Amino acid sequence: MQYESSQNAFGHITTGLIHHPYVPPGGFEAPQPGVFKASTVYFPTVAAMRQREWKDKSAYTYGLHGTPTTYLLEERLCALEGGLQCVLVPSGLAALALVALSVLNTGDEVLIPDNAYGPNKALAEGELRHFGISHRFYDPMDPADLSRQITPQTRLVWLEAPGSVSMEFPDLPELVRRCRSQGLLCALDNTWGAGLAFKPFDLLNDAQMDPSGAGGQGSLSVDISAHALTKYPSGGGDVLMGSVITRDAALHLKIKLCHMRLGLGVAANDAETVLRSLPSMNLRYQAHDQTARALAAWWQAQPQCAQLLHPAFEGAPGHPHWQTLCERIPGSGLAAGLFSVMIDPRFNQAQVDAFCDGLKLFKIGYSWGGPVSLVVPYDIASMRQKWPKHLKQGTLVRFSTGLESAHDLILDLHQASQAHLLVR
Ligand SMILES: *Cc1c(COP(=O)(O)O)cnc(C)c1O
Repeated sequence: MQYESSQNAFGHITTGLIHHPYVPPGGFEAPQPGVFKASTVYFPTVAAMRQREWKDKSAYTYGLHGTPTTYLLEERLCALEGGLQCVLVPSGLAALALVALSVLNTGDEVLIPDNAYGPNKALAEGELRHFGISHRFYDPMDPADLSRQITPQTRLVWLEAPGSVSMEFPDLPELVRRCRSQGLLCALDNTWGAGLAFKPFDLLNDAQMDPSGAGGQGSLSVDISAHALTKYPSGGGDVLMGSVITRDAALHLKIKLCHMRLGLGVAANDAETVLRSLPSMNLRYQAHDQTARALAAWWQAQPQCAQLLHPAFEGAPGHPHWQTLCERIPGSGLAAGLFSVMIDPRFNQAQVDAFCDGLKLFKIGYSWGGPVSLVVPYDIASMRQKWPKHLKQGTLVRFSTGLESAHDLILDLHQASQAHLLVR
């Protein structure tokens, strides 16, 4: 009998390797959590399977609905952003799409800031339109324009602070107040703030609260915070992931159900990579910020710079709004590692492109939040309804600072501008 020869204490070796009875001791503790991978999750009995609840974190039903690894990441992200519930999705853009598909119905309208992350506009134009969901763009620097764009069909308002290319910082509390007064849902793309520069679910600092309590503004919060974890939480330029965080259980359930029906799972190894990066995130964010400010200060002194677009700099569009929201203690405000420079119009696009090509440490590439500094020239005219009043003419170049030495990065900017942006 062939079977007997390869049998051991647990049956045939093929079966034994699958149903091996050894269980390692519990109580293992180490700095990083383990990676739990699953599509299938076991139930002890059929009855248990039928009764198992998947919508909360009381147990496990299927890999798509959560594992210890994803639950842990969700809870840590809630702590970061000040939310109560979190859903993970395979990219930041998927987070924006999930929000739209969860809360919008045929006939509804969504308002998007004109300086929004480009693919969020493309989502409305290319996909939501098919479902009979319309959109309008508003000027985020003019709260009255937001009010003007609201129609009886408006259901959702997107917010972004700052716009991730032109970097103007809106009066976020005022925009949220206007949404609130109209009963509109507001969703923030919180990728820039990352839960560190300001608290999306607590937008008023103490100075703005009425100390008497009478007629005080109370709390002010967005309904939904969407975050491209691809950026600072990952920190490596090697993971795509997004999160959708809320504080309202009913709203979360709506998003969770849509998430389940669309099947938007994340890979366990990716979740673990983000978990591994979270402990250093605050330190990295501050380092990116310091380097960005050193580079921005260098640019400000250059004759090629027509306008510096960095919300922490005096004179940059929306700087006072950044101060109000992000500087709860004066001088302590954080501002990420992202800024743009409007290169003087006497330099043409080809010269600006050659400058970008001439940089050695800065790589040409999208995204931000990783260790490597990045540069991208943008054509603002093609991205906006009309040229924004607060932007000077010129060619916009966006810099994302990595974790290299600021001194070395400035030398790189200097050599490339000497070679390609020479002021005669
Ligand atoms: C990168 C980014 C996204 C999308 O994230 P992906 O993971 O690249 O899809 C969304 N919003 C903002 C502001 C971003 O910078």
